[in-house]
Amino acid sequence: MPELPEVETTRRGIEPHIDGQRITKMDIRQPKLRWPIPEHLEQTVKGLTVLATKRRAKYLLIELGRSTGADPLVGTLIIHLGMSGSLRIIQGKPLAPAKHEHFDIRFNNKHMLRFTDPRRFGACLWMASDESLAILDNLGPEPLDDIFDGDYLFKKSRKRVVSIKSFIMDQKVVVGVGNIYASECLYLSGINPKKAAGKISKAKFASLVDAIKQVLKKAINEGGTTLKDFVGSDGKPGYFAQQLNVYGRKGDACPACHSPIKQITQGQRSTFYCSNCQK
Ligand SMILES: [Zn+2]
Repeated sequence: MPELPEVETTRRGIEPHIDGQRITKMDIRQPKLRWPIPEHLEQTVKGLTVLATKRRAKYLLIELGRSTGADPLVGTLIIHLGMSGSLRIIQGKPLAPAKHEHFDIRFNNKHMLRFTDPRRFGACLWMASDESLAILDNLGPEPLDDIFDGDYLFKKSRKRVVSIKSFIMDQKVVVGVGNIYASECLYLSGINPKKAAGKISKAKFASLVDAIKQVLKKAINEGGTTLKDFVGSDGKPGYFAQQLNVYGRKGDACPACHSPIKQITQGQRSTFYCSNCQK
C-alpha cells in the first residue's frame, strides 16, 4: 500500500512536469474507483492550469485555476492512490492504455499524467474553491510539520487508554504513520506497542516523534517504499526492507538485545516488537 513517503515521492516526481501546465484533455475510462469519479470532471478541468501540486496526508492535491485573474483558484483535483494505485508521467506519444489504467490527464506540454490502479481503492475527486470535503476535515497535523512534537502528543494523549500503536496510527492524532512505520518507530523509541497512550511520558513522546520524523524523512529521501513495490529482481525485499528492525521479523534476534522479536495483532493489524527493549 502506498504510504505517505510514496505519495510525497509521487508529488515530487510529477510536480516539475505539470506545474504551470494547462490541461488540454482528461480521459476517464473507468469511473468506478473507491468513490465514483465525478461525471462533470472531464469538462470541468479542461483548459485549467496547474497552480500547485500539494499533498495532505495521503491525498495529492492538484490546484487548478485560470492562468489570469485576481482569484485564480477554480478548484482542486484530489487523488488518492488507495491500496495499489500509482501515477506516472508519459512524455510524447502516449501508449495505448492497458487494463488498469483508469484515467489520463493531458497537458499542453505534451506530457500526460496516467493513473493505474488494479484494485480500484484509489480515488479522483473534485473540490471547488468554495467547497470543503469531509475526507480532508478533521485530519491531524502532518508528521513532518513543526507543530507535531512531543508536547503535542503528550497533551493529546492524556487520559487515553487506547494502545500507543493505535493512537499514533489514528489520522485525527497525526496523519501518515502507517502500520510498518508504527512498529519501527515504537521500536526505535523503546515503547511497548501495547502500552496505553495516556501512560507515556513526555520524554518518551519526544523520542517517538524524533523516530517518526527520522523514519519518514529517510523513506522520502530514498524514494519512498513499500515492501512489495521495491522487490528487487532477485525476489528479495528491497533496500528499505533490509533496514527494518522488527517489522516482518517474528522470531529473529532483536538487533539490540538478541531476544526473539514478537508478533501480535492490534486492531486487526500485525505488530512486531521486542518485549525486552520496549517497555
Ligand atoms: Zn531487544
